[in-house]
Amino acid sequence: MDPHARLPAGGGACGRLTVETVDVIVVGGGPAGSACAARLVQAGASVLVLDREEFPRTKLCAGWITPEVVADLNFDVEAYPHRFNTFNGIVVHLKWLKFKLPSVQHSIRRFEFDNWLLRRSGARVRRHNVRNIERDGDGFTVDGAFRSKHLVGAAGTRCPVYRTFFRDANPRARELQAATYEHEFPHRWRDERCHLWFFENGLPGYAWYVPKADGYLNCGIGGMAEKLKARGEDIKRHWRHFLGVLARRGLLRDVELAPKGYSYYLRGGVEVVRLGNAFIAGDSAGLATRDLCEGIGPAIASGHRAAASILEGREYRLDDLAAYSSDIGLVQRMLERAFAGSRLHLPENRVAREAASL
Ligand SMILES: Cc1cc2nc3c(=O)[nH]c(=O)nc-3n(C[C@H](O)[C@H](O)[C@H](O)COP(=O)(O)OP(=O)(O)OC[C@H]3O[C@@H](n4cnc5c(N)ncnc54)[C@H](O)[C@@H]3O)c2cc1C
Repeated sequence: MDPHARLPAGGGACGRLTVETVDVIVVGGGPAGSACAARLVQAGASVLVLDREEFPRTKLCAGWITPEVVADLNFDVEAYPHRFNTFNGIVVHLKWLKFKLPSVQHSIRRFEFDNWLLRRSGARVRRHNVRNIERDGDGFTVDGAFRSKHLVGAAGTRCPVYRTFFRDANPRARELQAATYEHEFPHRWRDERCHLWFFENGLPGYAWYVPKADGYLNCGIGGMAEKLKARGEDIKRHWRHFLGVLARRGLLRDVELAPKGYSYYLRGGVEVVRLGNAFIAGDSAGLATRDLCEGIGPAIASGHRAAASILEGREYRLDDLAAYSSDIGLVQRMLERAFAGSRLHLPENRVAREAASL
């Protein structure tokens, strides 16, 4: 069957072509799509998840998850069949300062975690690269091959549901685009702690060293794309500097890395996230936090909300999801801690500005 062939609207079958009809089509099987699908399936809805990749698939991501994510997913860590690491603090490097910020956080590998989440959802999954979406009565037809009443766009930055229905109403703010560069690889790390470097070498963002359980490591950097561009810098230059930092600290030496880049949008205006029966969630709605660029938690929370809205007719709102990684902002706490006791005085509004400008 040619999945891109057009069918006349309303047709359940046309010649040799049949249209698969379900209650909800979810485009994208990452955390937002899986979380949404799981809730819908639990309630008895017929759900089809379309993802262009075969799972398990690689997703560029440091794989840091918060205790809120574990709670939101009702995730039994003991029963999780893959790598799961817990940190009791983060080693923060900020210019000349280095200190441990007490905070319980976790790391997973997205390659394993996303596949586990998607299977656990119980939804039917099809490998399909979604290109063309059309309104069809009060529902939607996807590539002439799939039809549903409700449609959830959870396909990340370049989500076709966002592009088709939401781009004009909810344009991406370029100043909120984060550029990243990272690599995850098997490595016998010597330091089991998670390290973060803020503003290293003037990077408008931060760099990370995140060990995973059983000898995997993720190293990467992320910064605000517009700021880098305005300075005529590129992320690769910062990456080379970061490799030097890792080597000098004895964290990584003589390892050939093959980093890759990806960009996504941090939390901006999220007023228009539902249009009729079409919803956007996760990176498709641009929900990652503005301080630590954390997107997994908001993806899951928005996926759950989309499902609740479809099932219970609840209003679908995302503007009250936290725009920072904790109520008071981890970065804000970190800066306060870094500057408390030092001779430098950091005015209150400067703290907020530093956090907001990350
Ligand atoms: C380098 C990097 C590091 C990061 N580190 C962290 C971190 O440590 N912690 C954290 O919380 N967040 C982190 N993030 C952010 C986080 O990865 C995302 O916010 C999160 O993955 C968003 O989930 P999602 O389900 O919305 O989208 P995704 O996880 O991107 O899933 C989208 C899915 O849609 C599929 N898809 C795309 N286009 C189509 C199409 N046309 N048709 C069908 N399927 C399609 C993709 O194959 C993919 O499986 C990081 C991001 C990057 C780039």
